[in-house]
Amino acid sequence: MSAAVRVRFAPSPTGHLHVGGARTALFNWLYARHHRGTFVLRIEDTDRSRSTEENIARITEALAWLGLDWDEGPPAPGYRQTERLPIYRAHGERLLAAGRAYYCDCARETLERERQAAQAKKETFRYSGRCRDRGLTAGALRLRIPAEGATVVDDLIHGPVTFEHAQLDDWILVRTDGTPTYNFCVVVDDVTMRITHVIRGDDHLPNTPKQILCYEALGYPVPALAHDSMILGADRSRLSKRHGATSVQAFRDAGIPAEAMVNYLALLGWNAGTEQEIFTLAELEEVFDIARVQRSSAMFDWQKLDWLNGHYIRQLSAEELAARLAPFLPELQPDVVRRAVPALQERLRRLADARELLEYLWTDPAAPDLEVADRDKVRAALAGLDGVAWEPEPIQAALDALREREGWSRNALFKPVRRAVTGRDISPPIHDTLALLPREEAFRRLSRVL
Ligand code: GLU
Repeated sequence: MSAAVRVRFAPSPTGHLHVGGARTALFNWLYARHHRGTFVLRIEDTDRSRSTEENIARITEALAWLGLDWDEGPPAPGYRQTERLPIYRAHGERLLAAGRAYYCDCARETLERERQAAQAKKETFRYSGRCRDRGLTAGALRLRIPAEGATVVDDLIHGPVTFEHAQLDDWILVRTDGTPTYNFCVVVDDVTMRITHVIRGDDHLPNTPKQILCYEALGYPVPALAHDSMILGADRSRLSKRHGATSVQAFRDAGIPAEAMVNYLALLGWNAGTEQEIFTLAELEEVFDIARVQRSSAMFDWQKLDWLNGHYIRQLSAEELAARLAPFLPELQPDVVRRAVPALQERLRRLADARELLEYLWTDPAAPDLEVADRDKVRAALAGLDGVAWEPEPIQAALDALREREGWSRNALFKPVRRAVTGRDISPPIHDTLALLPREEAFRRLSRVL
C-alpha cells in the first residue's frame, strides 16, 4: 500500500513561501519519503491578479533551499492550474450530465442582496437553491448537495469533524464566465493527480466538506486528510510580519542555516515522542509520523531556532562554513573569509552575525578617544607586536607575554587594543581580530590613537 502514496504541496503564488506553508511542504515531503511515495508540487495560480512568475520562482527556490525536492511538478507542464482549464471544464460537464450540478442564472445583484440580508441577521449566506430544478442551459455551474445530513471530515490530525449540510450550500464550480472556482480546481486536481493524502493548513478545513461532496458527486474516493495548525507569534496571534521574519527567504537572509530551519519547522507542532530534538532531514524522514502532529497551534520560538542554528553552524566543516558565509560577506576576499572561520564558528548564532563581527575589515572605524592609561597599553602593544609574525598564534603569544610582564588583566590590555582596531567593544578574539587585518593596517589603526 505504502508504495502508492502520492501527496502534494499546492501553494498559491501570491507571495513568498511563508513558514506555515514551508512546514506544510515539509510534512508532505516527509510523508512521501517515509512511505517511498511521490511528492507533487502544484501551483495554484487561478487567481491571476495575485499570482506572479516572480512568486513561483521565490517559492520553488525556497523549497530547493530547504532541500525539499519534488518528484513531479514545474517546470514540467501540467502542474499549474492555468494550464489545466480544459480538465476542469470536462469535469464540470460530467457533473452536469449526471445531474449532480446545475446551471444558475441568478443575477449578481440578487445574490448580493441576499448575502447582505443574511449578514444583517448575523447568519452565513447560503444560496437558496432557486435554480436547482429550472433546467437552465447556461449560467454559473453549481454543485447539487444533499439538503439533509452531514459530512464528516475524518482528519488524521483533528480526528472526525462534522459539518451539517444545513450549514453548506450549492456552491459554484464554474462561474458564468467559464472560469472554475478555487475549491473545484483543488478537487479535480487531487483526483486527476491521484493524490492519496491531502496534507495542508487547517485554514482549509472549512472548505473540506464542500470538497468531499464534490468527490462523491464525481464518484471518486476521498483521499486521506490531514490539516496542520496555524503558527502563532509570541502574543498568540497568527504569525505575521509584525513578529519579524515570516518568509523562508527572510530566514535565509537572516543567516539561518537550511538544516536548522528544517529541523525547527519539523518541531513546530510535531515531536518524535522521544527526547530527541536534533534531526537531520534524513533522520526526520525515518521517524516522521503524521499522527504525532499536534492539533493545537504552534508558537514560533526564536530562541529555540537560534539554539538549533548554533548547533548546525558548529557542525559545519570549516570549508563549508566559509562557503555559507561568503554571500553574507561580499566585501571580503574568499581567503579572508576562510581565515576568519576559526574565530567565528563558536560565536555565530546566525550566519549574518558575521557581518557585525567583521565589519571593521572593510570599513575604517573612527579612531576612539582613549584615556591616557589605555593609550599607554596600546603603545605597549605596538612595541610588543613589532617584528612578530602576523599570524594568530604569535600575536597571541606576544600579547600574553606583555600582559604577564606588566601584570595586566586580559581585559585591561585587549579592550583598548580592540577599540583601536575595530572601534567596538565586541569582536572575535583579539589575536584573530588583529591577524585578519593586514599588518600595516593594524599598525596604522593602533598608532593613530596615540
Ligand atoms: N493553494 C492553497 C494555499 O496556498 C492550498 C490548497 C490545498 O492545499 O488544498 O493555501
